[in-house]
Amino acid sequence: MSLHDDVEEILLDADTIAARVAELGAQLTSDHQGQDPVLVSVLKGALVFLADLMRTMDLPTSIDLMEVSSYGAATESSGQVRILKDLSKPIEGRDVIVVEDIIDTGLTLNYLLGYLADRQPASIKICCLLDKPARRLADIPIDYIGFTIPDRFVIGYGLDFDERYRNLPYIGVLKPSVYGGAPPEG
Ligand code: 5GP
Repeated sequence: MSLHDDVEEILLDADTIAARVAELGAQLTSDHQGQDPVLVSVLKGALVFLADLMRTMDLPTSIDLMEVSSYGAATESSGQVRILKDLSKPIEGRDVIVVEDIIDTGLTLNYLLGYLADRQPASIKICCLLDKPARRLADIPIDYIGFTIPDRFVIGYGLDFDERYRNLPYIGVLKPSVYGGAPPEG
């Protein structure tokens, strides 16, 4: 029994992801010459992307990690999120690059951007691996996008279903039988 047996379709294979991550890293490197940006990433989904992306950047970067959870479906439209793990150092005066796995409704990131902006960084840029614009509710200026994907629930390369499948090296879609019904939203 293999984890791969649960996958219906591979949307982005490992080589395709690696090539695009390298392009993003090169772009970030040239756009941030003379800077010492801090990569602020959100656990846990962005972990794999962050680990690969930072190794393609030829800059004196540092990283910081946050963890957030939404308050659940009832307040989804408000975009209120709970901070489970805060920044470990002040970002005042720093050039911040937010490294995200996927932007769907945009509500999580919208909240996070306000939170970060309140801490008075010199600049904030957003770099996300996957953009799923079909369900966007908050208008977010995304500076760097890896791939734009259709409105499907994806797993792998850090993204989970029920905490599983994060370690798949590609981004794919699960077989409906794995969900036991309709695929999860967002
Ligand atoms: P948003 O607030 O933009 O709707 O949601 C962002 C978060 O929802 C992402 O960071 C991710 O954790 C989760 N999410 C959204 N779409 C997907 C998806 O297709 N697959 C997985 N595994 N998580 C998703």
